[in-house]
Amino acid sequence: LARRRNIGIISHIDAGKTTTTERILFYSGLVHRMGEVDDGRATTDWMLQERERGISITAAAVTCMWADHEITIIDTPGHVDFTIEVERSLRVLDGAVAIFSAVEGVEPQSETVWRQADRFGVPRLAFVNKLDRLGADFERTVAMMREKLGVRTLLMQWPDGDGDAYRGQVDVLTGDHLTWSEADEGRTVERRPAEGELAERAAALRESLIEAAADHDEALMEAYLEGSPIEAGAIRRALRRVVLAGEGVPVYCGSALRNRGVQSLLDAVVDYLPSPADLPPAAGRHPEEEAEETRPPTEEAPFSALAFKVQMDGGRRVTYLRVYSGKAKVGDEVWNPARAKGERLARLFRMYSHKRERIEEVGPGDIVAAAGLKEAATGDTLCEKAHPIRFEAIVAPHPVISIAVEPKDATGAKKLDETLVKLEAEDPTFQARRDADTGQIVMSGMGELHLDVLTRRMREEYGLEVRVGRPRVVYRETLRREAEGEAVFDRELGGKPQYARIKIRVRPVPGEGVAYLSHVPPAGEGGESPAALLTAAEEAALASAGSGALAGYEMTDVRIELLEAEYDPDRGTEAAFGVAAGNAFAEACRRAGGQLLEPVMSVEVTLPEEFTGAVIGDLNARGGRVEGIEDRGGGEASFQAVRAHVALSKMFGYSTDLRSATQGRATYAMTFSHYEACEMAGA
Ligand code: GDP
Repeated sequence: LARRRNIGIISHIDAGKTTTTERILFYSGLVHRMGEVDDGRATTDWMLQERERGISITAAAVTCMWADHEITIIDTPGHVDFTIEVERSLRVLDGAVAIFSAVEGVEPQSETVWRQADRFGVPRLAFVNKLDRLGADFERTVAMMREKLGVRTLLMQWPDGDGDAYRGQVDVLTGDHLTWSEADEGRTVERRPAEGELAERAAALRESLIEAAADHDEALMEAYLEGSPIEAGAIRRALRRVVLAGEGVPVYCGSALRNRGVQSLLDAVVDYLPSPADLPPAAGRHPEEEAEETRPPTEEAPFSALAFKVQMDGGRRVTYLRVYSGKAKVGDEVWNPARAKGERLARLFRMYSHKRERIEEVGPGDIVAAAGLKEAATGDTLCEKAHPIRFEAIVAPHPVISIAVEPKDATGAKKLDETLVKLEAEDPTFQARRDADTGQIVMSGMGELHLDVLTRRMREEYGLEVRVGRPRVVYRETLRREAEGEAVFDRELGGKPQYARIKIRVRPVPGEGVAYLSHVPPAGEGGESPAALLTAAEEAALASAGSGALAGYEMTDVRIELLEAEYDPDRGTEAAFGVAAGNAFAEACRRAGGQLLEPVMSVEVTLPEEFTGAVIGDLNARGGRVEGIEDRGGGEASFQAVRAHVALSKMFGYSTDLRSATQGRATYAMTFSHYEACEMAGA
């Protein structure tokens, strides 16, 4: 277990994640021909259109060997439209390598992903890439990491020159000057003692590494204070503790494209990133009793795993699993507490870059693909039935944008239905449903690019030609004030008299989503109504909130309280409780008054200074609020970052407009920020 690393590579688009991943697979000896992103043959980009676009959309897990360690790389996408992919990868990986471009430095999306990694407490290394490019600036990039990301950087290397003058780098711990021969695609790392200014720089940086390490190691501290010589190995071991505690980030540098620096990065993955054994036991809850349960990463513990990705592979469902504890064999039945179902592990695979290998058994720390699981969805826990546990689910953010879709010809209707079901199974941020009023099929997702990608997948992977409508904002609704509603159901249904009286209170609670609270105890806990009837009332109220009580949009930021439920032992039924609760809720909402909400996005535009005025003017014209402007440096030109909040409805087609306003020199990132009240007429 100590020889395993489960890592992710996180970065802004174009910082060089794909190229670096390729080089890692190449040097680790599994890929014998270096795939180039630019000719569209990168191994991790195996979905057709990812190749075309040159971006990695879907996380795939690839395993390789380095220095007697097994490293599994969980691919994570760089585009914020796909944050769920980033989140679910972060859930199952143990450490990460963050790649920055030495030219652009820390870009908006790198910040977003970095914060997500902070939230999951993932130890990280940084790789400052593209040192060979004109305008590369290692020092500035490191300064941005400190300022923008609040990182305590541990400089493990320092470049020897940059841009055209970039020759190699010095290894701070050993004082070696490293270069890579052009002749054998950088396979041989040449080491010689650093000299002159570089040697002095390395010595000074080594001092600061020792200081950082000494905080975590008393023996080292003593040696340091006494001025005794300190071995590189001792510093490495102490720094490992610093990194695992999340108190520092070792920084490496190089040029993936020019084959420089990748081997040092792999060594660092082994030296500083955690193995599954370094992690605290995985924590979850007992599915029924709600008590906290933990699973240590050992083979003796009961089996537990998280399904973190479902992929359709030629019509078959492949489920990616991260095993936390215990063992499971092919043919075993595992328990899925979320669906109260046992499912059989028909086949298990480990994915290598060029092949998949069937395996018979999985254990703690394994990341594998399983075939045969029909029900398990992203975020579901799999465990032993006798020792049930549920890990926290992976929460998918709510879709903010929708488009109508229809098949190009009538014969495609059935195929469209089937395809949508498959895409929904793979991607929890994607929803498709038929609009009750218009009969149209409406797809919802995280942004224009997200839906665009899915539409193209329908054509390219499923051979389905579709027409899509214009993108629309997904509105929500909430309430204006607190109110109560009461309803009585007293009728004969199916020849049987049925009765219920329900009283409900509703109120707006910002940030709460939809919450339900019952003040009515069930029978057996001091009340009269059987628990099943109260559940029927709850389900009916929540279903009404889901379809919108006023304008037909899903509600949010609403608290629903069950105040009273009158139970008649002869006539009380689930149907009566359900209808009465739905009516009481509708009545309460009518009194509370409805408020339409629209999604407001955080937008950050990075651009050369000369365009700042025009871009701010345009954001203002879209009704946006500019929150700040910062200098970003930028090598050849002076760059600025403009941060604003803008309603999503005003941001359609922004990428095209921005491109033409800035001659294609600006980039932007957009993430959902919050909902804001808007006029009913706006719908
Ligand atoms: P990703 O979007 O983060 O996966 O980035 P890619 O690996 O696709 O790289 C984006 C572009 O930058 C491609 O054209 C690469 O060839 C180029 N690139 C990647 N690494 C380097 C590097 O070290 N130096 C230079 N000059 N270009 C690089």
